[in-house]
Amino acid sequence: MAQAVEQARSGKVVIRNIGLLLSGDIDRPVLDADTLVVHDGRIASVGKEADCDTAQPDVLIDARRTCVCPGLIDSHVHPVFGDWTPRQGQLGWIDSTLHGGVTTMISAGEVHLPGRPKDIVGLKALAITAQRAFDNFRPGGMKVLAGAPVIERGMVEDDFRELAQAGVKLLGEVGLGSVKAGEEARRMVAWARKYGIQSTIHTGGPSIPGSGLIDKDVVLEADADVIGHINGGHTSLPEAHVCELCERSSRAIEIVHNGNEKVAIAAARAALQLKCPHRVILGTDGPAGSGVQPLGILRMIALLSSVGGIPAESVFCFATGNTARLRGLDCGLVEVGRAADFVFMDRAQHTSGRTLLESVQLGDIPGIGMVMIDGVVRCGRSRNTPPATEIPVVVH
Ligand SMILES: [Zn+2]
Repeated sequence: MAQAVEQARSGKVVIRNIGLLLSGDIDRPVLDADTLVVHDGRIASVGKEADCDTAQPDVLIDARRTCVCPGLIDSHVHPVFGDWTPRQGQLGWIDSTLHGGVTTMISAGEVHLPGRPKDIVGLKALAITAQRAFDNFRPGGMKVLAGAPVIERGMVEDDFRELAQAGVKLLGEVGLGSVKAGEEARRMVAWARKYGIQSTIHTGGPSIPGSGLIDKDVVLEADADVIGHINGGHTSLPEAHVCELCERSSRAIEIVHNGNEKVAIAAARAALQLKCPHRVILGTDGPAGSGVQPLGILRMIALLSSVGGIPAESVFCFATGNTARLRGLDCGLVEVGRAADFVFMDRAQHTSGRTLLESVQLGDIPGIGMVMIDGVVRCGRSRNTPPATEIPVVVH
């Protein structure tokens, strides 16, 4: 079944009657368009219906004036293998997250694997295996970018070259292994960057017994591409240190669900004040001690928009186009040529918000009516969100 889903080809898909089209682009979050045309999983045109070639689609979807947004991207997860997490002994957590509107998740290290190898040959083998396994298997259709080794002391430049040649594109959170000193981390992060491997650093206090503190000076010295869970995972650095990181580093500001919510808002506001909203990206850091959160990204969006006072259409960009651009992904933006990964949403039934965006600004999470990946419908009405007021219909 999973294999059949992976190999499905979308053909020509027309999505008409879109009520609100969110672009994922922080510089222009809302598009003046009501129609999308998809060819074999890629966006072929975006515009008004009269201006698009909508003839003879293989699949016709009537969005029924609901909102279409790029599929959400969770910048920070800890998968292990398949659709199972040992952290809370749960099956199906990735498929459940698809029902939360997420279409791509990015591993920050397969750290929960029971007996995870910490010797250098073993950690490289695990990363390569995880990258291959999730490349071959997409739970529910979810794109899981995995194979993120946790670096350990004693690694040399050749190890990073070898990992890159084998297809590894990410480092797991720097600081979860034995490399905790700024100078040592900086050297390895630079080797990773040289070979095209993107890095994330753990920020803040220990996550679980066995991990450690990474303070602002280590984060600045290591200079990883992503300031991972800048609001702590769970324990945050002091708010002033987090704001200092936003100001003194130019790297991605990653805010997670499994972190300090007060500092999450402070970090997002600091980025806006510094006029660099494009640096803000969202993750869950799940599965974690707080569990699995299928709606974690939607809850972050509602938090930052309502309590944080940031326009909802901008916050959706934190979880879509910003992440895609900073991580070099081909999804996350409604642009011709990009992957046709979409989440269809409407205001939840009985929210006090009159529109989807207003409901989010009031702190309610949206209802999801459909999720599409590579132009293929992967689920209809979400089993996890509150019911959407209106849902799209597959006409044929
Ligand atoms: Zn962490």
